[in-house]
Amino acid sequence: MFDSLQERLSGVFDKLTRRGALSEADVTAALREVRVALLEADVALPVVKDFIDGVREKAVGQEVLRSVTPGQMVVKVVHDHLVETLGATSVGLDLRASAPVGIMLVGLQGSGKTTSCAKIARRLQERERKKVLMASLDVRRPAAQEQLKVLGEQAGVATLRIVPGEPPVAIAKRAMQSGALEGYDVVMLDTAGRLAIDEELMAEVAAVRDAAKPHESLLVADAMTGQDAVTVADAFKQRVDLTGIVLTRVDGDARGGAALSMRAVTGCPIKLIGVGEKLDALEDFHPDRVASRILG
Ligand code: GDP
Repeated sequence: MFDSLQERLSGVFDKLTRRGALSEADVTAALREVRVALLEADVALPVVKDFIDGVREKAVGQEVLRSVTPGQMVVKVVHDHLVETLGATSVGLDLRASAPVGIMLVGLQGSGKTTSCAKIARRLQERERKKVLMASLDVRRPAAQEQLKVLGEQAGVATLRIVPGEPPVAIAKRAMQSGALEGYDVVMLDTAGRLAIDEELMAEVAAVRDAAKPHESLLVADAMTGQDAVTVADAFKQRVDLTGIVLTRVDGDARGGAALSMRAVTGCPIKLIGVGEKLDALEDFHPDRVASRILG
C-alpha cells in the first residue's frame, strides 16, 4: 500500500529540497501536486482540502521560507500533518473493563471480519495471556459459524458451542454468560455481514450491542475498497458507536486512501491492521511509521 503515493510525493519533495531558496509560489505549486497525489490515492476530498490548507498555513510562513533548508522544513510540516491526520498516536485495544470484556466485530461481508476475529483472539491469548472465547453470530451465511470454529481450532482459541437455529441476540447473550461462568477474560462476537449496508443489518448489530454491551465495537473494513470503506465506517458509526477500526488487506496494492481518510472522517482510531491471510498477520497501527513510509 502507499507505493504510488510515495513515488509521487518523493518526486514533488525531491524538487523542493534540491532548490535553495523557496518562494511562496514554489510552495503553492508543490502543494498543488501533493493535492493531486492524495486525490489519486483515493483520499476523501474534504480530508485532502483540510490537509492542504493546514500545511499551507504553516509552510508559507517566514519561519519556513527564510530557514536554511526551507524544502526540508516543508517536508517536515507535511509529515507532521500526515501523522495528525492518521490519528497522532497509536491506540490499542482497550480491555480495561470487568471480565469478560466483550469485543464485537462489525462490517460488510468479505471485509475480513471472521479472520480478524481469530487473529485478535490469538494475539490476546498469546501476547497478553488472556483466556478468549469466540462466538459467531452469523446465522445467515451457511457455514459461517463453522468457519469461525475451524479458525478457532487453528488458532487454539475456544469457540462457543453452535446451537442450530439460535438467533444472533440469543447467541450473544449465551456467549457473554458462558464467558462469565467459565472464567474467560475476553468474549469476541463476530456479527453477520452483508454485501451492502442495509437497515436490517444495522438493526441486528444494534440489538446485539444492546444485549451484549461490548466494551469494544470494532469495524472491520477492507483497505482495497478505498473511499467506500470510509462511507461504510461512517454509516456504522452513526448506529453503533464504534470504538475503533481494523483495516484489512493493507498487504494488498490499495492506494492508501482509506487509511488516510478513516480517522479524519469518522473520528475513530484505526487500532489494528491486517497484513495477510495468515492468523499472525495482524499489526498495530502506528501513524508516525505510516507517515514516514509515505514520505519515503
Ligand atoms: P468476512 O466475510 O468479513 O468474515 O471475511 P473473511 O474473514 O471470511 O475474509 C475474506 C477473505 O479475505 C478470506 O479469504 C481471508 O483470508 C481474506 N483476508 C482477511 N484479512 C486479510 C488481510 O489482512 N490480508 C489479506 N491479503 N487477506 C485477508
